[in-house]
Amino acid sequence: MFKKPNEKIGVLGDGVTAKAVREKLAAWTIQEYPISEADIVVTSPGIAPRDYPSSKAEFISEIEFAYRLKQDEEIWVGITGTNGKSTVTALLAYTVGCTPQGNIGTPLISSIDTFTPIRVIELSSYQLEGCSTFRPDIAVILNITPDHLERHITMENYAKAKANITLFQTAKDTLIIPHDTLIESSTAASKAQRVYLEESSPLWKFTRHFPLPGYHNKMNALAAILVCKALKTVSDEVMMLGLSTFKGLEHRIEFVCAWDKRKFYNDSKGTNPDSTLIAVQAFDNPIHLILGGKDKGLDLTSFLNALKQEKIKTIGVFGEIKERFFKEAHIHAPTLPLTCFNTFDEATEAAASHSQPDDIILFSPACSSFDQFKNFEDRGTQFKRWVLEHYGQL
Ligand code: ADP
Repeated sequence: MFKKPNEKIGVLGDGVTAKAVREKLAAWTIQEYPISEADIVVTSPGIAPRDYPSSKAEFISEIEFAYRLKQDEEIWVGITGTNGKSTVTALLAYTVGCTPQGNIGTPLISSIDTFTPIRVIELSSYQLEGCSTFRPDIAVILNITPDHLERHITMENYAKAKANITLFQTAKDTLIIPHDTLIESSTAASKAQRVYLEESSPLWKFTRHFPLPGYHNKMNALAAILVCKALKTVSDEVMMLGLSTFKGLEHRIEFVCAWDKRKFYNDSKGTNPDSTLIAVQAFDNPIHLILGGKDKGLDLTSFLNALKQEKIKTIGVFGEIKERFFKEAHIHAPTLPLTCFNTFDEATEAAASHSQPDDIILFSPACSSFDQFKNFEDRGTQFKRWVLEHYGQL
């Protein structure tokens, strides 16, 4: 049975999350209190804790707020990591037949008053940072690599925020993680049963049925398989059907079109260096890489070194980061075949003109989109539209 909250609730922010919380309060005929008078304040993931107004209230994320209203019989699966969250969340939700929730789209609070047997929830470090009792039955941390350091400052803080997903789990719960020093040390205090994401898993054989390209997608498939097994209610037939018929998400190494024996791919969701390198690894053919966007201040040295690969034929950099990228490449990787452009279309046109038959033209920006676009979806949609207009006919 769902029970409405009975504390004095304040809401911080006015984005998607805050709107969803306010809508629910209105639907439950619960008054929103000013922050200074509230017992609890439901925060928005875009606002860093250092920017919270001073108040005697407890500040919690929308995920924590929803968790406090959870119905006992529901099973919650939480998925976090630097990269692959949306793919694994969507794949699992598709396989078990529920709507993916959390960071991927529908805020958790929006359906909290409707009993849902299994909830598959994508969780960002910002959402987990504001959790203080949240306990999913099954937690997955896919990987942790440098990202969002403008907010978390150090990798240890970033890992600590992600580790909140398992901090309150008990011995009845499951924690799925890779063998990774930072992840293992930050989750050392967890009481949950550990299951490892590793190629030596006896379940790895099932990943060959997953149609999406790249080794990373096999890991994503394995994560979903391990969750299905931990749920105990998903048959192998249902699991295999989900795995083998999943179409992938828009803007993740998404095929756009073939032109004169070249192929264009949109990986606009590649918003950090690691995800771009993963996309590069997913192909064996020569690649013309287009990257750039808003500078998140990440260290570029190891990224530039990792781009020194025979198969990367040209790199076109556009957007806010281009000057720093060019300067640092001059110091650390002067032989990279790098050219700067103002916009993605100039970079794509140059990439196409330098390409040979069988080459891949890969748009995987490694940066966030907010310098020239509304978000990564807008950026990917504009890229696809432009490519189809110019190269979609042959
Ligand atoms: P997220 O929701 O965590 O941003 P997505 O599933 O949307 O992750 O994938 C974003 C990008 O991250 C993909 O285009 C791909 O380049 C990369 N990626 C996906 N899965 C993984 C993984 N398991 N490990 C590393 N990189 C990945």
